[in-house]
Amino acid sequence: MIYLDNNATTRVAPEVFEAMQPYLNEVYGNPSSAHSLGQEMKAAVEHAREQVAALIGAADPGEIVFTSCGSESDNWAIGGFLEQNPTRRHIITTRVEHEAVRNLCEHLAEIGCEVTWLDVNEIGELNLDDLRRTLRRDTGIVSVMLANNETGVLFPMEEIGKIVRENSDAVFHVDGVQAVGKIPLDLKNSSVDLFALSGHKLHAPQGVGALYIRSGVKLPPFIIGGGQERGRRAGTSAVPNIVGLGAACELARTFEEHERIERLRNKLEDEILSAIPNARLNGTPDRSQRLPNTTNISFEYVEGENILLHLDKAGVCVSTGSACHSATKQSSPTLRAMNVPYTAAQGSIRFSLGRYNTEEEIDYTLKILPEIIGKLVEMSPYDKELRALTMRQL
Ligand code: PLP
Repeated sequence: MIYLDNNATTRVAPEVFEAMQPYLNEVYGNPSSAHSLGQEMKAAVEHAREQVAALIGAADPGEIVFTSCGSESDNWAIGGFLEQNPTRRHIITTRVEHEAVRNLCEHLAEIGCEVTWLDVNEIGELNLDDLRRTLRRDTGIVSVMLANNETGVLFPMEEIGKIVRENSDAVFHVDGVQAVGKIPLDLKNSSVDLFALSGHKLHAPQGVGALYIRSGVKLPPFIIGGGQERGRRAGTSAVPNIVGLGAACELARTFEEHERIERLRNKLEDEILSAIPNARLNGTPDRSQRLPNTTNISFEYVEGENILLHLDKAGVCVSTGSACHSATKQSSPTLRAMNVPYTAAQGSIRFSLGRYNTEEEIDYTLKILPEIIGKLVEMSPYDKELRALTMRQL
């Protein structure tokens, strides 16, 4: 299979698997136990904490708390802040957040919080003046993703953090799930207070994530119980997964082929856009403002799901928008927020590359895709004349 769906999840790297293996059946103590097996497990967890801190540029490994996934980290950051500060119920976020933030904020709005939703323009950019205008002295938390999971568009985390600091006392939470391992990060020199990440997006297994909590920022525990994670998240640590996350962070830190992946992504994007008349890019054309591995392209008048199925049959895995809502027929809220017309949003495909993709795989995808799209355009239920007109205009 050719796997071009690395924003949905990634294959566990062999190096990560190897690092985890001893902790599944050889070293098996509880990290809270005082005996030597337990202490070996504890040491492995602390080593992983250092590896995560090093990748994201945290000042101190103690700022990293292990969780079960990115969604948990996001929920803890926002929900925990509100629990700690019940009177500061104004939240600012964007219309293009992942469900982990968007659905949580919708729920919080239903139970009495005031949520300001920042709009994006048609290429997925935020207007920072809107942020400046909506920040208030009583704003509790600003939650903005660093990299969009569907389009790869990057939000200017530094500028946003500065605006938040200068205009409010709000805590700044960043959903960094799609960015970690793909772009350099240096949180100690940023204005970020809370930062969510997830193992399975960077070649660690599913079921482990982390929340960076800047020293001095107070959050109540996410799970109350034993004293694990210094009382911040109870429950026996998932040591093999945590070791896997640490190893994946180490692997990402020493990865030297980002440019190769970017070159392959650029080739895929350029050739699709030039070879297929009804293809249009979703997200800024300025590639310095997008993740190096992602391209989101709409094939107008064609159903994304049909494209996905045909590609799958031909051995290529992709996503229609975000994996989480591909089971529903609704077009993606992110593309809706970008005002992508319905006929294009329905035909959007996300190609997300990773460290194991090769040039041959991209060439193969480029070879089969135009024929698939051509066939589906022919079968499209949309009016033939309208289609022909649009194709000419394109
Ligand atoms: N945030 C973003 C931007 C994501 O892309 C995802 C997953 O796709 C998440 C949060 C949720 O992460 P997890 O799947 O680890 O819960």
